[in-house]
Amino acid sequence: MEIRLAAPLQRDSIVDGEGIRAVIWTQGCIHNCFGCHNPETHDFNGGFVIDIDELKKEIRSLNEETGVTFSGGDPFCQVDACLELARFCHDCGLNVWCYTGYTYERLMELAKERPNILDFLKEIDVLIDGPFILAKKSFDVMFRGSKNQRVIDVKKSLKKGSVVEVKKYQYVDKKNPGKAKKEKKEEIYI
Ligand code: SF4
Repeated sequence: MEIRLAAPLQRDSIVDGEGIRAVIWTQGCIHNCFGCHNPETHDFNGGFVIDIDELKKEIRSLNEETGVTFSGGDPFCQVDACLELARFCHDCGLNVWCYTGYTYERLMELAKERPNILDFLKEIDVLIDGPFILAKKSFDVMFRGSKNQRVIDVKKSLKKGSVVEVKKYQYVDKKNPGKAKKEKKEEIYI
């Protein structure tokens, strides 16, 4: 099986999730978020194609990293390849984080027609979901670009049947926590 990537496997990242991580930069994204930092990753004919066995060899050789992050592009645009790689990462003892422009709720809807989406979600430990929204851009939220994006504990969410955010990364407006809570409720299903 092959995967289209925007860049070679990145090692030693400390900004794409907890700990020291490797990053798989997938190529291709349908969301077209205004203000996206990686517009060169949108084109489904861009980047380069690599056999996932090659990528597995590189993942197997990681020694500093404790986890792998799928980013892009949108990894959910190449679900089958990402699913196989995520399974492999877990087999290697690496945790899995993933960025997507879809909301968790939208992915669960899509999974009704495409079970491989649910299979991939089951192999993700932490999902950072939702489109980048320029008007909600913030430097106060860790590991993501805008306040609408959530850092989700996928296993707990699947068990509960609704989103469970990782508490320590949950966005709270310190100046107006009451208002933030209200907004969060209204904005959660973007
Ligand atoms: S989902 Fe990510 S890569 Fe895709 S357009 Fe939005 S910010 Fe850019």
